[in-house]
This record gives sequence, C-alpha cells and structure tokens, in this order.
Amino acid sequence: MSGKPLPKIDPVTAQKIADVLNKRGFVTHDDFPLVLQKEFGDFIKRKIRTLNKHGYTGGTLEPWSTNFRQANFTYGARVIARQVPDTRLDAYTNATAGPPSGLALSKLTIGDLSHLLLGLVFACPCGHQTKVDSNLYSFADRKKDCTQATAVCPACKAVITSPSDAYRLF
Ligand SMILES: [Zn+2]
Repeated sequence: MSGKPLPKIDPVTAQKIADVLNKRGFVTHDDFPLVLQKEFGDFIKRKIRTLNKHGYTGGTLEPWSTNFRQANFTYGARVIARQVPDTRLDAYTNATAGPPSGLALSKLTIGDLSHLLLGLVFACPCGHQTKVDSNLYSFADRKKDCTQATAVCPACKAVITSPSDAYRLF
C-alpha cells in the first residue's frame, strides 16, 4: 500500500464510523466495506485524523481480524484503549454473518446485541418481514440468548418465536 494515496471517506460515512467507534470500540469491513477486506484495518487506522475531525475521541486504533479462528471471518479496526476482546469481535462477526446459523453461533444475549448496535430481523410465515431494535426488549428479556427473542408480526399479529437475522442499528 506504500505510496498509493488512500481513498477518501465521505463526511457522512466518516461521522458514522466515528460514532460507532466511540460507542462500541470497533468497526468491521462488513460494517463499512470501503476498501479491500485485508486493507480495511490499516486503512481505518491511517484515517484517524479524518475520523477525529468527525467526532472520534477514542485515540489510537489497531487493525484486527478474526484470522480464520472460525467459519465466519472479517477484518476490522479497534480502539486500543477499549481492549475489546477477540471473543467479542468473533461473536459479532458470527451474528452479522447471516442465516441460517449466524445468530446461534454468536451465543450473544439480546442485551449484547444492544451493546453491539445490532437489531433483530424476524421472518413471519405469512411472508412479512419485521425488524426489531434490540433496545426495545425488557430488562428481563435482555438476559436471554438472542435466538430466543420473539416478535409480533405487524401484518398478521402472529408471534414469531425466533429471529432469522441481525441488522445494524447504524
Ligand atoms: Zn405475519
């Protein structure tokens, strides 16, 4: 990558990245696929001045990757001072990997999803799909495994007993 000018980040995206880093301590390539996967962590690290200009306050960033520890993988950058553990990032990578097994592999609770800025997607047998913000679940429900989250279909009013996927709240 030496000598090659880095691609620019548009102001709206830079603000989103800064916000997610401030709240959560990391971003992944799948969150913001701006450059090639393998280049993403270093790219974000080197864009710290742009991110600072758009509100980032967390300090030095380091590239990170799941490094083929698991079936689902991604590359990312994390805030060194926040010390987000690899296990947390691996779980996030699984949760965002999609159906059929992503959410179950993540072993995250509904409360974890809320901290990771993820909501839940529910597919009703009637054909309607609905999204539920994980922050809307009660304190008791937030301790449950994310695969046990339920929702009421806004179209047919049936109770959907398990989510099919996660979505980003940003
Ligand atoms: Zn329905």
